[in-house]
Amino acid sequence: MEFPAEPFRIKVVERVKRTTREEREQKIIEAGYNAFALRAEDIFIDLLTDSGTSAMSDNQWAGIMHGDESYAGGRNYFHFVEVVQRIFGYTHVIPTHQGRVAENLLFSTLLEPGMAVPNNIHFDTTRANVQANGGLALDCAGEVAYQPDVEHPFKGNMDLERLERTIRDVGVDKIPLVILTITNNSGGGQPVSLENVRQTRELLNKYGIPLFFDACRFAENCWFIKQREPGQQHRSVLEIAQELFSYGDGCTMSAKKDALVNIGGFLCMNDGELAQRIKNKLILIEGFPTYGGLAGRDLEAIARGLEEVLEEDYLAYRTAQVKGLADDLTEHGIPILRPAGGHAVYLNARAFLPHIPPEEFPGQALVVELYREGGVRAVEIGSLMFGDNGGKPEMELVRLAIPRRVYTSAHMSYVAHVIGRIWERRESLRGLRIAWEPPMLRHFSARLEPLS
Ligand SMILES: *Cc1c(COP(=O)(O)O)cnc(C)c1O
Repeated sequence: MEFPAEPFRIKVVERVKRTTREEREQKIIEAGYNAFALRAEDIFIDLLTDSGTSAMSDNQWAGIMHGDESYAGGRNYFHFVEVVQRIFGYTHVIPTHQGRVAENLLFSTLLEPGMAVPNNIHFDTTRANVQANGGLALDCAGEVAYQPDVEHPFKGNMDLERLERTIRDVGVDKIPLVILTITNNSGGGQPVSLENVRQTRELLNKYGIPLFFDACRFAENCWFIKQREPGQQHRSVLEIAQELFSYGDGCTMSAKKDALVNIGGFLCMNDGELAQRIKNKLILIEGFPTYGGLAGRDLEAIARGLEEVLEEDYLAYRTAQVKGLADDLTEHGIPILRPAGGHAVYLNARAFLPHIPPEEFPGQALVVELYREGGVRAVEIGSLMFGDNGGKPEMELVRLAIPRRVYTSAHMSYVAHVIGRIWERRESLRGLRIAWEPPMLRHFSARLEPLS
């Protein structure tokens, strides 16, 4: 595996426990063959999510000690607002404790029953928050977003024809905003090009519809623009981000991703009247507008994290680490969604285990085997997650999300090695059936059994 070495050295370490195969076999049975039910301490490499799992820097931890825990007007809030405005450029900045609260505040204020929100592809919490507020969540990404083997530099792009058709079909007055998710998490962490953002803006100008960004992985997206989009190579990632956000009217953000912290989020907008209505609601559910459900120290860690995430040494290492794992697997003929995303590698379980049909959960069979073979935790994104209530997902994927600044290149080689060993004996893997499931969001708590 080849990639830029980690642009940091390690000052504090956290022990991870090694377990034996016998122990893991027992633990996965106790967990009902569901990796969500495992204890984190029994996992060697945890690739369940990149959300809230980042390692903070010495600079961020120093910022924690500079927390001002005044109820109102704490100094960290002003630093936080200054940094967010420098990067994102929006007039109003509202802190929240997670990204989904920003979504809830926005949609509960803007949506009325019967309205619709187009997005390239909605992330689960975005979709759920649109629906919970009576809205229709519509995906308008291009076909290529659903083709795992097709290489394309900007698979996250909005399909503009599809978007315009959607606006005409639903009616302009029923669409209070359009969202672009950067990078497109549900579509494999794939980026959106600057040109596509510009064109989306132009189209929305024609109809007078506001554009918001779901900005969780904005730095990774802007890095891909710098690497892949003609004419962008000479610009800094910060300049690209500033231009990108200038085409929008606001954004929602989960700081648990590209702000390199363990908790936090925010909501931005230029519309002062909208901001005022949302701040009134914020006081009811999150807290006073200068802390929004966070401690002062958290705001300081976010402000510092947002500066660090734009360092290009960091982004080069970050994206190359993910790509390194993807390339390692591809070299061994292991089927993955191409190209590698910004934050994760997705195994194509349908192609990996063609002998296991979707109703026997090939992705989950692979998740179980990753744990048994090497103590690695991943997450199924396929028939177990989306197949309830008659759903038929287009792909059977297993996501290996890479936490930021947490694992070394040796850890990544280990993961590739574990997957390689399973690949060699893939025909011996068997499917699963559901022993118990809850009425909704079943993948979190379902219990399964192996088919013999
Ligand atoms: C994580 C995420 C969210 C929700 O953020 P939380 O902080 O987990 O509430 C929204 N959109 C996208 C694209 C995400 O990845």
